[in-house]
Amino acid sequence: MARIQWKVHELPWRLKNSMGSFFSWIKLLRVTLYYNHFTNVSVAMETCLEPIFWFVDKFAKYLGPIFMTMVIFLTTSVVVIFYTCLLPHVYAQSTSRTVFHLVFGHWLLINIVFNYIMAAFTNPGTPPMEIPETVSICRKCIGPKPPRTHHCSVCDRCILKMDHHCPWLNNCVGFYTHRFFFLFCCYMFCGSLYVCFTGYDVFTEHFYGKTPYPFPAVLYPLNLVYDVVNKTLSTAPTVHNNYNLEVTHEHQSYHLAVIFEFLVCSAVAIAILGLIVWHFRMISRGETNIEMHINKKERERLRKKGIAFRNPYDFGFIENWRIFFGIENGTGRSFVRHILFPSVHQPTGDGLTWPHEIYQGDHMLQLL
Ligand SMILES: [Zn+2]
Ligand SMILES: [Zn+2]
Repeated sequence: MARIQWKVHELPWRLKNSMGSFFSWIKLLRVTLYYNHFTNVSVAMETCLEPIFWFVDKFAKYLGPIFMTMVIFLTTSVVVIFYTCLLPHVYAQSTSRTVFHLVFGHWLLINIVFNYIMAAFTNPGTPPMEIPETVSICRKCIGPKPPRTHHCSVCDRCILKMDHHCPWLNNCVGFYTHRFFFLFCCYMFCGSLYVCFTGYDVFTEHFYGKTPYPFPAVLYPLNLVYDVVNKTLSTAPTVHNNYNLEVTHEHQSYHLAVIFEFLVCSAVAIAILGLIVWHFRMISRGETNIEMHINKKERERLRKKGIAFRNPYDFGFIENWRIFFGIENGTGRSFVRHILFPSVHQPTGDGLTWPHEIYQGDHMLQLL
């Protein structure tokens, strides 16, 4: 006959063990949910930005035409205001200055319009089914990918030397459109700055009236803060106004137009300057936006092994820019004729094969 033995004294120990196992399991579960040996700050940032990427991927097709309409509308309104409000103001000051403004302003305008149209409507370059050098197969196109080619989820096709998909152009910035995109940014920046300088005194007069302000007129956000603080602190009734009190009803549209012109152009100039600096750095290093991320990871990986990374498509600052503009020695092209003025010339090469140095061992780098 079996005899039941009660081990009550072991109960706390057994309870502690099972609770310990339970908490270990919960801890492991928690850790496996978000811990990854390869996780770093950039992965965490990308994960946080994932909803934005999803939104852009999902709606970029529909945002493209809207953004393009905005670019065309804003550019057209700035040009119309310049002709109708600022040019007569310049003409009233000096005829010789008017001639300069007509020549310089139209040179900028022609370059802006030309490069925008070319960047928006030129095919950025897609690989054919038969290519001389294949580095991988695109899982979405089920086709071969040459070096530096990437799949654009918005265009739903592979793009040669893809940099990024630009919603403002509703097109991909790739092998055949990169130069037009960059030049458009540069001329748009110069154009916005030029309009700001030309309309500066008119803007100051209409935006501030005769009220003296502590900051220069171009720092209008600081002056607005100053005005609000001043009004809040002041107990006496305010007698001045931001806007020129002498502006009559008939001049109201002129008044709003010159303020609109300056605010739009200054905002565009600041935004585009950041974009230009970003792309200037990448082009100088012979890499695209996508390659910059790939190269950064590769650089860190090799540094841990004590090996210096070198981008195989980096031919030095000057040569990188020559290649980018398509004005290398022997092409017969010049900076003045082909960059300062509209030119439809294509980049050197076909975008399918790229000259690059071969590295041995760990230096061997494939930019897929
Ligand atoms: Zn593809
Ligand atoms: Zn695209």
